[in-house]
Amino acid sequence: MSKLVLKNGRLVIPGQGIFEADVAMENGKIVAIGQGLSGDEEISVAGKFVLPGLIDPHIHLGIFGDLAEEMEKETASALMGGITTVGAFMGGPNPYMSYFKDVIDLANAKAVADVFFHLAIMTPEQQSEISTYANELGITSFKMYMSGIPGLIPDVDDGFMLQTLEIVAALGDKAIVCVHAENPHLIRIATEKVRARGSETLADWADTHPNAAEEDAVRRAAYLNDLAGSRMYIVHVSTAESVKALAELKPRYPKLFAETTSPYLSIDKYSPLGLVAHMIPPFRDTESVDALWQGLASGLLDTVGTDNVTLTLDLKGAEKGIWGAMPGYPAVGTSLPVMLNYGVNNRGFDLIRLVEVMSKNPAEIYGLYPRKGTITPGSDADLVVVDLDLVKTVRHEDLGSRADFSLYDGQELRGWPIMTIKGGKVVVKDGQMVSEATGQFLKRSL
Ligand SMILES: [Zn+2]
Repeated sequence: MSKLVLKNGRLVIPGQGIFEADVAMENGKIVAIGQGLSGDEEISVAGKFVLPGLIDPHIHLGIFGDLAEEMEKETASALMGGITTVGAFMGGPNPYMSYFKDVIDLANAKAVADVFFHLAIMTPEQQSEISTYANELGITSFKMYMSGIPGLIPDVDDGFMLQTLEIVAALGDKAIVCVHAENPHLIRIATEKVRARGSETLADWADTHPNAAEEDAVRRAAYLNDLAGSRMYIVHVSTAESVKALAELKPRYPKLFAETTSPYLSIDKYSPLGLVAHMIPPFRDTESVDALWQGLASGLLDTVGTDNVTLTLDLKGAEKGIWGAMPGYPAVGTSLPVMLNYGVNNRGFDLIRLVEVMSKNPAEIYGLYPRKGTITPGSDADLVVVDLDLVKTVRHEDLGSRADFSLYDGQELRGWPIMTIKGGKVVVKDGQMVSEATGQFLKRSL
């Protein structure tokens, strides 16, 4: 394979800073960083920022569509958005040893970004197979829903959760439990109140999942995790109250990590999107949006994912009201431009911190660092080149997803990826796929 050199970019290297230098890549790896490097192919990116390939630690695949198709298309959408690795949450009632090797084969055959999996643990059979999932499948992260998704995923109770945490703790510090932290009992009584008043706006939907339901579950999950001695990652934190709780919890519990998502950082419950933005947890008020940005800057929140679910407007069913609309939206293709526009350009959010929360931290938390998450000789040659001043209007047709809408359709965003390099090859340029990319399943070890 020939040697590719990116010339004169401004390399954003987490933990070190921003340096103007060349990067040389060969055989899928970064081989050198320095001045005056030469290669078989040289591309000037002078004045542009070069980031390590981003990691979206939280997407879903194949929930409403064909898994093989989404494995290919939605990972292509990720690449077009500068995301070269995705963490996909997978789950169902059956024990995973019965079929999951086929899912891994499918990822190796179809995915164009690299993929690692998190497995939902919701039955005693699955719980009893956890060490086998780690040792035989190379999957070391697991997910529990303290509050499930009605009709799709059951809640787990605190006893089941503590048992699972103890099993994962025994695997050592490379394994981790991800938690959807909401209290289903508080949701139930809040839902009854909203039903009784009859109004069905996006803000009403927010009232069905009160901020207190998230805060209570975050505190309880952190406590149980400490009892078990496991590592824990709270997915999609959405409220100011949870950020405040994390300020108390994180100094006491060093094995506690927390994620928010780019939609929660950019959309509130008064959005004109209405029920197209129907989601669990729901969009909140502007105070929570501000608190999430502060928590991300201060280190209380560790990562930014998307919770991407590929949907069509027809399946979404916004016209069915808050009780009939489907939660979820596509977001993997817009995550980076949203963070650049709303964060770096509008709020002065630090670009180095952006690389930490969108690349280095997910790589470290999920056992992929330094193969992923940084720019250094020996790392995978996954890079994204960013133009902070490029202004483009979002059109879902340009994002490469099967979805027929975006939460940001028609919005002008400033700051976009202009090139994605995957495995040492330019695969996306100026928003277009320009060559075939190959992704693979990332097997992790304990
Ligand atoms: Zn999710």
